[in-house]
Amino acid sequence: MKGAKAYMNRYKLLTPGPLTTSCTVKEEMLFDRCTWDDEYKQITQKIRGQLLELAAVAPDEYTAVLLQGSGSFGVEAVLTTAIKPEDKCLIITNGAYGERIVTMANYLGIRHVVHSVRYDQAPAAADISKILVNDQAITHIVMVHCETTTGILNPLEEIAALAKEYGKTLIIDAMSSFGGIEIKVQQLGIDYLISSANKCIQGVPGFCFVVAKIEQLVRSQGNSRSLSFDLYDQWQHMDKDGKWRFTSPTHVVAAFSKALDELGAEGGVAARYKRYQATNRLLRNKLKQIGINAYIGEEHQSPIITTFLFPYEGFNFEDFYHYVKARGFVLYPGKLTDIDTFRIGNIGEIYEADIQKLCSIVEEYMRRPKK
Ligand SMILES: *Cc1c(COP(=O)(O)O)cnc(C)c1O
Repeated sequence: MKGAKAYMNRYKLLTPGPLTTSCTVKEEMLFDRCTWDDEYKQITQKIRGQLLELAAVAPDEYTAVLLQGSGSFGVEAVLTTAIKPEDKCLIITNGAYGERIVTMANYLGIRHVVHSVRYDQAPAAADISKILVNDQAITHIVMVHCETTTGILNPLEEIAALAKEYGKTLIIDAMSSFGGIEIKVQQLGIDYLISSANKCIQGVPGFCFVVAKIEQLVRSQGNSRSLSFDLYDQWQHMDKDGKWRFTSPTHVVAAFSKALDELGAEGGVAARYKRYQATNRLLRNKLKQIGINAYIGEEHQSPIITTFLFPYEGFNFEDFYHYVKARGFVLYPGKLTDIDTFRIGNIGEIYEADIQKLCSIVEEYMRRPKK
C-alpha cells in the first residue's frame, strides 16, 4: 500500500467521470476475484438488486443488466436490442451525448427523427407533443437526462408523461444523473434507463448498466444486430445466477459494489443529491463573485457539472488548467463549438472544503496580472 498511497490524491478530479473515488472503493480492487466463483457471482446479484432499489422499481417488473464497456456501450446495446426495423425513434438532442445517440441510430440503420434544441435550452413538452401527434409512426422516444455537454437538466417528468400519454417506449440516458438525482423509474414509466459505474454512484470505469422493464426485454429477443451488444442475451445469462456472459471487469465490479454500499451509508440518493446541490451552488456563487459566469440558467442547471464562460477576452484555458492542476484540481475543457467555455464537475468524493479551496485558487489566478 505504501507505493499505492504515493499516487493517491495527487490531484482531485472535478470531471464528470472518471471521478475522484474513495480510498475504500479503490482498495476493493487489490484482490483478484474468480469470475465463476459463487462469491463473485453473488456480488453481481447484490448489485443488481441494489440498482433496482435505487431506481425505485418492483423486482418482478424490472431487472438490472450489467454490460462490459463504457456508458456509450449501454446506450448502443439498448438501441440495437429494443428497436425493431419497423419501429421509429424520436431522438431529442441538446448536446453532444444526444448527438452521439443519433450517430448510433445511423450506424444501426434505425429509423429515426431528430428534435434538436439549442444547447442552452431544454426541450419543450408542447413541441414534443406536436411531433408525436403529427408522426404516428414514432414508437420510441430517446432523451438524455442530464446533458453532460453543458450540465443542463432536461425535463424528464414532462417527457415521461408524454411517453405515457401517447404510449411510446421511453429510453433515458441517465448516465450522469442516476444515483445523484432521484429518478423514480417505475412511477415515471421509463422502459430503459442507462447509466454507468463511474458517474454518480462513484465507482471506477469499466461497465455500464441498464434498468429495464422485463416485459420490454422479453419482447426484444432476436432484435440485436450484434452479439456483444445483445442486451437480451446478456440478461438471459446474468439472470440465471449472476454469471456474466464473456469476461467481466472483476475489479471494477467489486469496487462498484463497495461504492453502492457507501452511497447507502451516505444516506442514499437524497443525501447525495443534497451534497451535490450544495457544492454546485457554492461553486457557482463563488465563481460569480469572482466574475466567472455559468452558461446554463439557474432554472435548468443540474447539480452535477457546470459550464462556465471564459471570464475575459484572451483568457488562456491551458494556462489556467495547469495553474489549477499544480494546486490539486483537474478541470474539464468546454464542449461547445461556438462559445469559449470550460467545465467543472462536482460529483465524486468532493466536499464543500474542496470547492472552497478550488475557488480560492481560481481567485488567486484571476488576481494575477493578465498575460
Ligand atoms: C458519460 C456519459 C455517457 C457515456 O460516455 P462514455 O464515454 O461512453 O462513458 C453518455 N451520456 C452521458 C450524458 C454521459 O454523461
